[in-house]
Parts: sequence; C-alpha cells; structure tokens
Amino acid sequence: MNERIYMDYASTTFLRDEVIDTMKPYLTECFGNPSGIHEFSRVAKNAIEHSRENIARVLRCQRKEVFFTSGGTESNNWAIKGVAFANRKKGNHIITTKIEHHSVLYTCKYLEQNGFKVTYLDVDSDGIVNVNDINNAITDKTILVSIAFVNNEIGTIQDIEAISELCHNKNIIFHTDAIQAIGKIDISLDKYEFVNLLSISGHKIYGPKGIGILYIKDGTSIDNYIHGGSQEKGRRSGTENVYGIVGLSKAIELVCEDIDEENRKLKELRDYMIDRILKEIPNSRINGSLKYRTSNNINVCFEGIKDEGILLALDLKGICASSGSSCNSGSVNSSHVLQAIGLSSLEAQGSVRFTLGKNSKKEDADYVIEELKDIVKRYRG
Ligand SMILES: *Cc1c(COP(=O)(O)O)cnc(C)c1O
Repeated sequence: MNERIYMDYASTTFLRDEVIDTMKPYLTECFGNPSGIHEFSRVAKNAIEHSRENIARVLRCQRKEVFFTSGGTESNNWAIKGVAFANRKKGNHIITTKIEHHSVLYTCKYLEQNGFKVTYLDVDSDGIVNVNDINNAITDKTILVSIAFVNNEIGTIQDIEAISELCHNKNIIFHTDAIQAIGKIDISLDKYEFVNLLSISGHKIYGPKGIGILYIKDGTSIDNYIHGGSQEKGRRSGTENVYGIVGLSKAIELVCEDIDEENRKLKELRDYMIDRILKEIPNSRINGSLKYRTSNNINVCFEGIKDEGILLALDLKGICASSGSSCNSGSVNSSHVLQAIGLSSLEAQGSVRFTLGKNSKKEDADYVIEELKDIVKRYRG
C-alpha cells in the first residue's frame, strides 16, 4: 500500500492475499468453461461447486440456496424484480425504506412504472425503521418487504429478526441487502430462518469486484433472472465468473472467521476517532445511531460547510473519505439517507463518511483528525 490513508472501506476494499492466491490458478491455467464435458471444464465446474459448498457451510444454509450473480446490485435487482413478477397475481405492493441503497430504490422506482405500488417508509432520526410502521403499511396486496440489514452511509443496523418474523407471519416474502452486514454481524442463516432472500457482494469484504450472491431460501417464489444457457440451474444464465466465485468463497470464509476480533479492533478505533472529533471540532455531530451501528462507520456532520470542498481538501492531504452520497462525475447530490434522518440538504452536504477496515491504524486516525481540524476551520471561513 502507498502512503495514502484509506478510510473508505464501505465503498470498496482491497483483495486479501489469501483471496488472490486462491484465485490465481483460475486466472491462468484453469480457464475451462464450466459447462463443457472435458477435463478443463470439470476443473472449473468443481471449483464452482466446491465454492458453493464452502459458502453454504459458512452461511449455514443449503448449497442449492446459493446463487452467484455479478454483484450486490444484480442480487438486489433479481430479488426485487424476481419476486414482484413471480407474485403479481397475488398482489402488487412492495414495502421498503427511504434509506435503501440506490440499487434497491431505483429498482422499486422501475417497478412503479410497471404497475407496482411501493411504500417508502420513514426512519427515525437515528436511522432505524420502526417495526410497527412496517406492520401498519402491510395490505392484502403486499408481496415483498425489502430492507437492508446495515445502511451503507451511516452503518445503522435494523432489527432483521423482528422484521423477518413479522413478514413470515403475514405470509410476505422478505429480502435483506446484507452487503454491509456480512463480516460485521453474524448473519448465519439458521438464525434468520424467516429471511427469504439475502444479497452479498464480494468487493466489500476483501473479495473481488463483479461477483456476488443472492441467497434464495428453498421454496421462495421468485422468477429466473437472466435467460440463456441454463447456468445456475437455469435461474441466472451466463458463463460463470469462475475466479470471482473462487475468490468470493475464500473472502466470505475469512471475513466470517474473525468477526469478533475484527469488530473489537475497529470499534476501539472508531470510538477513539468519534471522541476526538466531537471534543476537538466544535459544532460537529455523528449522523445515525451510535448504539445500533457497525464497528467501522463514522459519519459526521460539520455544521456550516459543504462536503465537496472538505473531501477534496482531505484528498489533497492523502486521505480517502467519502460523502456517502451519490457522486456522479464530480457532481454531489445531498444524501437521501441523511435527509431521511432529518438533516437539511446543507447539513447533509457538510457531512463526511469515514469507514475503517483491515489496514486502519491509530496513527492514521491521529493524522486524519489533525488535518480535519484545520480543514473544517478553513471551510467554515
Ligand atoms: C456496495 C453496495 C451495493 C452494491 O453492490 P455492488 O457489488 O457494488 O453492485 C448494494 N448495497 C449496499 C448496501 C452496498 O454497500
């Protein structure tokens, strides 16, 4: 790694060495098409099925419930569109929240243009959705509830156990985007028996980009997604991303192995940074619940500034942070998540997300805070 300080782990992570080592043969000599009938194909096919088995073991589900996709965005698209179209005779109502990732929100918007009705629930000022609000929003037309386990901007954790049980009791399919949860929370699926669908992405957990999983609980009513050559039991066609699958399997295994140790380390550093920021930078506050929050997330609002300037100033000092909001070709929109928890558009723009990970160190935190004190003062004029 170079001298830059990376505090943007929620946006993506580097590949772990063990993951690279596992992938290497499949980037070189083991290049066979898994669908063929010769030895090259068998090697590739075995690698996929071995990975599926390993993932099912770690996630505590059945092998046949693990489907490989091109990443978190595709998994969310498949879950939501797949359930919507498979169940449209039963009803056309979907429930989600205002703080979902764009891959959920824009999929819901698309369905609204195609005859579905979507309720976007409010969250409280801590960023938590009230289970009673979900209950009240359910109608006899509701077919799907989709709520992320952990929010990617503010790291807040929802009560997935209670929400999924409510949906189960009402005979409604429940999907959760667990992309920011895995590795921070034990998402063993035998503990979440009422979750029907769960999305995972490789590149948020030190695995490769362009690979993900949709867990589909056996018996869940969902349409096939990509039509073609019948890979993934005909439910998601396309020649498999063999090296991605092998890498993802290793990444999941490793990240689920050391959850406790990793959380202890990250939480200590996170709390150290939060304490110092709140003490040493006046008029700063943390966005989102401190109690129901993952160990790696710091999202802080500095009153009286715009983040575009701060992020660029941090970048000039070698610090990689994020606004947590959608940033397309340099234009920054105020975060829909921060506005949903009650921040004004200006306050949202004056917020910065730091997300910690494997290479984060106390010296980095100290450097970031010293620079931040300076930058915030300057940008407040
Ligand atoms: C990153 C992310 C996604 C998108 O996953 P990709 O693999 O990048 O497509 C979806 N939801 C959440 C919560 C994320 O953090």
